Amino acid sequence: LSRNPGETEFHQAVREVLESIGPAIDKHPEYAQARIVERICEPERQVIFRVPWEDDSGDIHINRGFRVEFNSALGPFKGGLRFHPSVLLGTVKFLGFEQVFKNALTGLPIGGGKGGSDFDPRGRSDREVMRFCQSFMLELYRHIGEYTDVPAGDMGVGSRELGYLFGQYKRITNRYESGVLTGKDLAYGGAQVRKEATGYGCTYFVDQVLKARGDSFEGKDVVVSGSGNVALYTIEKVHQLGGRVVAASDSSGFVHDPKGIDLELLKDIKENRRERITSYTDAVPHAELVTDRSIWQVPCQVALPSATQNELDADDAAALARNGCLVVGEGANMPTTPDGVRVLREAGVLFAPGKAANAGGVATSALEMQQNASRDSWSFRYSENRLREIMIDVHDRCHATAEEYGRPGDYVAGANIAGYSRVAEAMLALGLV
Ligand code: NDP
Repeated sequence: LSRNPGETEFHQAVREVLESIGPAIDKHPEYAQARIVERICEPERQVIFRVPWEDDSGDIHINRGFRVEFNSALGPFKGGLRFHPSVLLGTVKFLGFEQVFKNALTGLPIGGGKGGSDFDPRGRSDREVMRFCQSFMLELYRHIGEYTDVPAGDMGVGSRELGYLFGQYKRITNRYESGVLTGKDLAYGGAQVRKEATGYGCTYFVDQVLKARGDSFEGKDVVVSGSGNVALYTIEKVHQLGGRVVAASDSSGFVHDPKGIDLELLKDIKENRRERITSYTDAVPHAELVTDRSIWQVPCQVALPSATQNELDADDAAALARNGCLVVGEGANMPTTPDGVRVLREAGVLFAPGKAANAGGVATSALEMQQNASRDSWSFRYSENRLREIMIDVHDRCHATAEEYGRPGDYVAGANIAGYSRVAEAMLALGLV
């Protein structure tokens, strides 16, 4: 703690992993001897840089940029960029740390990293966002590359931002290096299903959790928080699998639509018009707009937090359990507080942690890297099948590891032990680096 003062979220993420991997360390004394825990908690490299840019009225702004290259034992550093005013070094370190284990769980050859800035793209014009992205890349370009570090999108970084970032990288380096960024638009080297991947993948994972108890999404009421990239495509897949999403949110509140969220309308509001969720109730009079209580008060059988970290606390967890929730699946990174997780587990609610349940996005990014490297482009159907197979594998790996270590049904232990063991084995093999 004293080495990383004030990095609350990073401490929270490290504690969560260390609390579950004891049995793996007991079984493998060579991990302790090689000091894998200490090495894994220390990023290989972290870069912090100044990002100056000019707004439309000529005022100068200074933001802070970050790239934390956490672990490259399994492959190039891989993980998204987040543009949000709340971003601090501790935020990026927590996300990068989680990413190491998530990427390991996919079974694909990718290490873990994360980056971003405290820049807030909301309310900024396209040209302002472009100028910011160009300035950000003017420093970032020297740290990344298809064999070293491959960033992607995250909160506040979608296809518009990735386009500006890639354009600037290409211009500075004079290289059309498609594999240097993932989440690109289909028009210039992007992959089918990347946009949908995290939401679809989370839904597939939870579908496997339901199947493992002889159940399915059919006829279930589902609550999805957020209305960004992850949330929208979670809603789409839940509807395709026969569930009904009855509530969605953004940071201004949530809408409760007992007849089921009209996804085309919500996509239009969020992806095209870039408006607040309040516009939903303007168009759907029977839906209720709620700003004075938590979305987790809405009764449901499946809850999929897909907005941000620490958005579901112990009170929310108690409300979910009381209302008959069977499964909570984390679409976002660490959306449930440690107390929230404890309450859910004590109440017997199955809990799918983000590092397993939301691994579909990075897995599809790795597929995008494969396509870029081979100058190939796969169909939507083929790509979605690959994603589905990967998510079933991630589920089965967590499930089997939990059983192997005497914790059946404990997806937190399963995910942490399986992810940690894969990285630890690779680090041992590479020697003291
Ligand atoms: P977006 O920026 O596309 O969407 C985030 C959504 O969450 C927005 O609707 C935002 O609303 C909402 N939100 C933010 N803070 C709050 C809050 N305090 N209460 C309610 N709603 C809130 O991000 P993504 O969908 O890409 O990412 C969401 C989460 O999923 C993050 O934790 C991210 O790290 C994780 N993730 C994303 C992946 C991806 O492929 N995109 C991959 C794996 C994980 P508003 O617009 O009002 O801020």
